[in-house]
Amino acid sequence: MDKFTQNYVEGFMADVIAKNPGEKEFHQAVREVVESVAPYITSYPHLMDQKILERIVEPERVIMFRVPWMDDRGEIHINRGYRVQCNSAIGPYKGGIRFHASVNLSIMKFLAFEQTFKNALTTLPMGGAKGGSDFYPRGHSDAEVMRFCQSFMTELSRHIGADTDVPAGDIGVGGREIGYLFGQYKRLRDEFSGTLTGKGLAWGGSLLRPEATGYGLCYFTEQMLATRGESFQGKTVIISGAGNVAQYAAQKAMRLGAKVVTLSDSDGFIHDPEGLNEEKMAYVFELKNIRRGRIKEYAAKFPGSTYYPGERPWRIPCDIALPCATQNEIEKADAEALVKGGCRCVAEGANMPTTPEAIRIIQEAGLLYSPGKASNAGGVATSGLEMSQNSMRQHWTAEEVDGYLRRIMQDIHAACLKYGTEPDGTVNYVKGANIAGFIKVAGAMVDQGLV
Ligand code: NDP
Repeated sequence: MDKFTQNYVEGFMADVIAKNPGEKEFHQAVREVVESVAPYITSYPHLMDQKILERIVEPERVIMFRVPWMDDRGEIHINRGYRVQCNSAIGPYKGGIRFHASVNLSIMKFLAFEQTFKNALTTLPMGGAKGGSDFYPRGHSDAEVMRFCQSFMTELSRHIGADTDVPAGDIGVGGREIGYLFGQYKRLRDEFSGTLTGKGLAWGGSLLRPEATGYGLCYFTEQMLATRGESFQGKTVIISGAGNVAQYAAQKAMRLGAKVVTLSDSDGFIHDPEGLNEEKMAYVFELKNIRRGRIKEYAAKFPGSTYYPGERPWRIPCDIALPCATQNEIEKADAEALVKGGCRCVAEGANMPTTPEAIRIIQEAGLLYSPGKASNAGGVATSGLEMSQNSMRQHWTAEEVDGYLRRIMQDIHAACLKYGTEPDGTVNYVKGANIAGFIKVAGAMVDQGLV
């Protein structure tokens, strides 16, 4: 980066930090994009004159609201709800809802910002948004979760709609929560519409939506490996998380011939040197999605595997690492451990799971590395396909949806190659994804005038 561009980035970031004090995850996400697109934008004076970057980092709307609800013992609780509608230049707002104790304004804004570029990469017409609450369903009864979802939706329903803003799931929001949210929306608005995605199959959901983020991650990783003449076949894969993304990433990697040896949750990780198989996967689905148990139970069930409390899986030797839990879960020491352990490819299933310092270590060591906004876009892409099916009042087969998903992940990979291939032939997927997403959103914003 030349001196002029470097000064531009630092000046821009100083303004963002001053205007959004204390929002460190938001600063981190913005800096990554600005560093990628600054060399591009500084050579297009009309984008500078139009202040496109300044407009993109300012959400179109931030909604914060009270969510009061009553637990099973009659005690009243107050949580905080959010919806950050970041950018609607290329379509209605679209992005998940996260229920987790860590949710705050900074995390909502970083996720909505990332979502804007991710959605642009999918080639589908979707703007970027994110929402959620500092409520975590874990440990609550179904009745409590239902009452919370109903209270949350009572306010959120004023701000969303099939052509306005279409939320989906994320951490802490799976099929059960989407069901309660949809039920309340339908009751309040008296309409059966495609306003939420991730719906049940009997009431407007798409086949393969639950699988889509994890499967899409593996399709994208296949493309990355192919640039070096490799595949999943015979590779050792370590995965963090044991939720929606991790489960289906593990299943697909295994079916593509890899040996998946770890899963985790926020309490620790399990290492199974023999690798997962269909029987063990069935156990994980039942443990996590039906019994809502903890991953340590896996080690008790399958002899030969070990549970490591309080640790992350990154020190286990591997060929491929798929972080699928949460933001900033690969820090500097974790990245060093991955490099030392022989890892050759890190593809993000979670959003921003790797810190900037860790990304530098991974890239400098010559590993393939892709940011979540490219490699985990299969989830929102399939949500876009669910919206299409809802509008058409049609239901596509699993093969049809899988075909679209594969093609979209291939197209995203091709866009990363187009804008991220360096003069020495290596691919910078961060740069490629950021520039490709930015060009599409910026072009639409210029076309639509100063709004
Ligand atoms: P789930 O709630 O289904 O699973 C989350 C998993 O990550 C759980 O195993 C959870 O463990 C673990 N986890 C959550 N927070 C932490 C933490 N602070 N430290 C360690 N582990 C943690 O969520 P998803 O699988 O849907 O989402 C995972 C990631 O993928 C998120 O970053 C999300 O934004 C991203 N993503 C999800 C998409 C989707 O379609 N669902 C689409 C694109 C991205 P525990 O049970 O202990 O909390």
